[in-house]
Amino acid sequence: MAFEGLTERLQKTMEKLRRKPKVTDADLRETMREIRLALLEADVNFTVVKNFVKTVQEQAVGAEVLKGLNPAQQIVKIVNEELTKMMGETAVPLNKSDHIPTVIMMVGLQGAGKTTTAGKLALRLKNEEKARPMFIAADIYRPAAITQLKQVADSIDVPVFDLGTDVDPVEIVRQGMEVAKEHHNDYVIIDTAGRLQIDEALMDELANIKELAHPDEILLVVDAMTGQNAVNTAEGFDEKLDITGVVLTKLDGDTRGGAAMSIRAVTGKPIKFVGEGEKMENLDVFYPDRMSSRILGMGDMLTLIEKAQKNFDEEQAAETMRKMQENNFDYNDFLDQMDQVSKMGPLEDLIKMMPGMANNPALKNINIDPKQFLHIKAIIQSMTSEERENPDLMNPSRRRRLAAGSGRPIVEVNRMIKQFDQMRKMMKQVTNGNLNGMENMMGG
Ligand code: GDP
Repeated sequence: MAFEGLTERLQKTMEKLRRKPKVTDADLRETMREIRLALLEADVNFTVVKNFVKTVQEQAVGAEVLKGLNPAQQIVKIVNEELTKMMGETAVPLNKSDHIPTVIMMVGLQGAGKTTTAGKLALRLKNEEKARPMFIAADIYRPAAITQLKQVADSIDVPVFDLGTDVDPVEIVRQGMEVAKEHHNDYVIIDTAGRLQIDEALMDELANIKELAHPDEILLVVDAMTGQNAVNTAEGFDEKLDITGVVLTKLDGDTRGGAAMSIRAVTGKPIKFVGEGEKMENLDVFYPDRMSSRILGMGDMLTLIEKAQKNFDEEQAAETMRKMQENNFDYNDFLDQMDQVSKMGPLEDLIKMMPGMANNPALKNINIDPKQFLHIKAIIQSMTSEERENPDLMNPSRRRRLAAGSGRPIVEVNRMIKQFDQMRKMMKQVTNGNLNGMENMMGG
C-alpha cells in the first residue's frame, strides 16, 4: 500500500515522543529531523519538505499548551493539520458548467491511466447524478487507444464519438461537441493523446483542443508510482494548459506517496480524485484530511484528540493531579475520572479509535468489555462515603457487602480493589503529568 514506509517512520517518531513526559527543545529538533527525513524518503518534493518542517516547528514552539493533550498528541495534531493544508485543506469538487454539456478534458502522459480514469469518472457521474456522459476519442496516434476507450465505454454503457485515426483531433472534438449537444448529453469527456514525456507538438495540440472546447475542467491524470516525475509532469502540463485539477492514479500500488503530498503544494492545483485500483469503481474523491490521517496511520486517533480537547475539564484534572501527587487519590476521584472518559463516548469506540487498536491481536487478551466500566462504577457506588475516601478500609467483610450491594461476584470486587491499589502505587511514581491510571486499570 501507498505510504507504508512513511507511516511506519512517522509512527515510530511519534511513539518515541509519546514516551517522553516532557518535550525539550532537543526532543523537538530530533523529532523535526526525523519527520524531514521520513518525508524526503517518501519522495516528497525537497522544497515542500523544507517549508513543511519549518511551519510545523514554528507552530510547535509557539503552541499554547492545549488542554487535555500531552506533548506528543499536540505534535501529532500540528503535523496532521499542516499535512492536510499541504495537500489542499478540503476536497475540491468537479467544475460544472451552468449550461450543458459540462466539458471535461482528460490529459496526461501515456500509461498514466487517462482512459481508465475517464471511464471511472463517467461511471461516477452516472451513479451519482444520473448523468448521461459521452466520450470523445481524440487520441488518433494509437489505434489501440480508440479500441480501449470503446471497451471501457461499453462496460459502463456510455456512448463514444470517434472519427477513426485519420481526422485531426481538434476537428474530432468540434464534431463531437455538436453531437453531444444534439443528444443533450450533460457531460462530454474528451480522451486526449498522451506521450511518453511532455513534448511540444502534443502540448500545442492540447492547447488547440482547449481553445475550441472551452473545457470547464482540465483534469491531469498522473501516475503516483512515478514519484517526483509526477510532480514535474504536473508542473509542465499546468504551465501550458492551466489545468484545473489532478487525478492521482495507482495509489493502490506500492508507491512511496510523495507525489500525492507535493503536487498541490508545487502547482497550487487541487487533487480532485485518486485512483486506487483498475476497476471502474476504484475512483475516490480526494480528501486531504483523510489522506493525512491515513499517512500518519493514526486511524481515528485525531478524532480522539479532538474529543479529549472538547471534554477535558482542566480544573478537575489539576485537582486530580494534586491528589495523585499527595497520594490522596480515592474512589471518588476515580469515579470522576471515569466520568470524564465516558463523556468522550462509549469506551468501545474510544479504544477502537486508538492507532492500531481496531485489529490489534494483543487486544484479544485484554478484557475491555465496556460493561466492565459500569460494573466498576456499581461497586464504587456501593461504598459508603467513608470507604470511598479511605481506600485502605477494604477488609473482607466490606468486600462481601460491596459484592452483594453491586450484584457483582466477590472475585470481581477483589480484582477491582487490587487494580485500584496498584494504580495508586503507580500514581505515586507519576510525576510527569500524564493521566495514565485509567489505561492501567482497564488493561489490568
Ligand atoms: P492512458 O495511457 O493514460 O490512457 O492509461 P490507461 O488508462 O490505459 O492505463 C494504463 C494502465 O494503468 C492500465 O493497465 C490500467 O488498468 C492501469 N491503471 C489505471 N489507473 C489505475 C489505478 O488507479 N490503479 C491501478 N492499479 N492501475 C491503474
